[in-house]
Amino acid sequence: MSHFANVEMTPGDPILGLTEAFVADTRPGKVNLGVGIYYDEQGRIPLMRAVREVEQALALEAKPRGYLPIDGLPAYNQATQKLVFGADSPLLAAGRVATSQTIGGSGALRIGADLLKKVLPQAKVAISSPSWENHRVVFNAAGFEVVEYAYYDPTTHGLNFEGMLADLGKLESGTVVLLHACCHNPTGVDLTTQQWEQVVALVKERKLFPFIDMAYQGFDKGIDADATAVRLLAASGIESFVVANSYSKSFSLYGERVGALSVVAATRDEVLRVQSLVKRTIRSNYSSPATHGGALVAGVLNSAELRTMWEQELTEMRERIHAMRAGMVEKLAVHGAPQFDFIQRQAGMFSYSGLSKAQVDRLREEFAIYAIGTGRICVAALNTNNLDTVVAAVAAVSR
Ligand code: PMP
Repeated sequence: MSHFANVEMTPGDPILGLTEAFVADTRPGKVNLGVGIYYDEQGRIPLMRAVREVEQALALEAKPRGYLPIDGLPAYNQATQKLVFGADSPLLAAGRVATSQTIGGSGALRIGADLLKKVLPQAKVAISSPSWENHRVVFNAAGFEVVEYAYYDPTTHGLNFEGMLADLGKLESGTVVLLHACCHNPTGVDLTTQQWEQVVALVKERKLFPFIDMAYQGFDKGIDADATAVRLLAASGIESFVVANSYSKSFSLYGERVGALSVVAATRDEVLRVQSLVKRTIRSNYSSPATHGGALVAGVLNSAELRTMWEQELTEMRERIHAMRAGMVEKLAVHGAPQFDFIQRQAGMFSYSGLSKAQVDRLREEFAIYAIGTGRICVAALNTNNLDTVVAAVAAVSR
């Protein structure tokens, strides 16, 4: 008998299952708002101009593909640090940050989780309610107990800030607190700068361990403004924290798996020791990251000309998302559904639309519009061609 004979079927990812159903749907004009991908006005995943330039130059060079160092391409890591912490960051000047290229933002989360399990073996991890589903999965897989802090308020479709502060205030010292830097997935609800200041002060006072997940830098207000949480933590005097960042969205390089883990420690010497543990952790997971995606991002970020080109395109993407939010709200009001005005106050690719499971089912069955049962919609999958259809359907199921 096979040693696998008793393995039971593991439930699949609900979002991927939705995409399969969407692909199989033969109705014309179908729209998939269930995805976690930025599409352009033509409904395509963009290949950014700056990325294409680097890719063509790399193809001409036809370099051999040796292994990268365990913690990745140095030019990538240096450019990442500047983007995440700011080029003039005192932490960088003091040598208190070590950055490792990882297999996407997901890889950074997992390496960060495995690292913290070694450093804080008894700690719990607190994630927002709700959070990106994989947060719980990754921290559980690393051996952590995961608890939730209040975050989303369904009555206002905004932040339950008092609940959040109250819950964070009850956590034991040393608890790892996972915070979304911006463009919260799945709700689209973010903190203001003043709210971040309060959270950072609380984290410091309660001696919690901040773990920032920044998967959408540049998708709401801009590269620096979207990193407010990181910059405030850096300036707070908190001695140690980690940041996982992803370029999947900001470079439209989903399948290249480009991300990074940055660890901040109290001193240059401490960061060297922690980084040796990060490298050991990477070595035991996947040995070293992949060459191509890292070379693309490093090539763009380390060229003044290509970086400007990339920032322009990122700005276009961000502005297109804002325009789709505004358009949706405006058109829904015309359809007699002004209650959706909060969509414009939410940020990033996603919106918790407030649509119920039953309404989402109706959208799919009657209108060939696919969304997730929680009501999360991907605003970045809207465009001027599908917006009217989507709005009419949402208004119809909301009556
Ligand atoms: N964190 C959040 C909040 C995300 O939404 C995502 C991507 N969906 C990730 C991390 C992981 O990014 P990557 O695809 O680069 O692994």
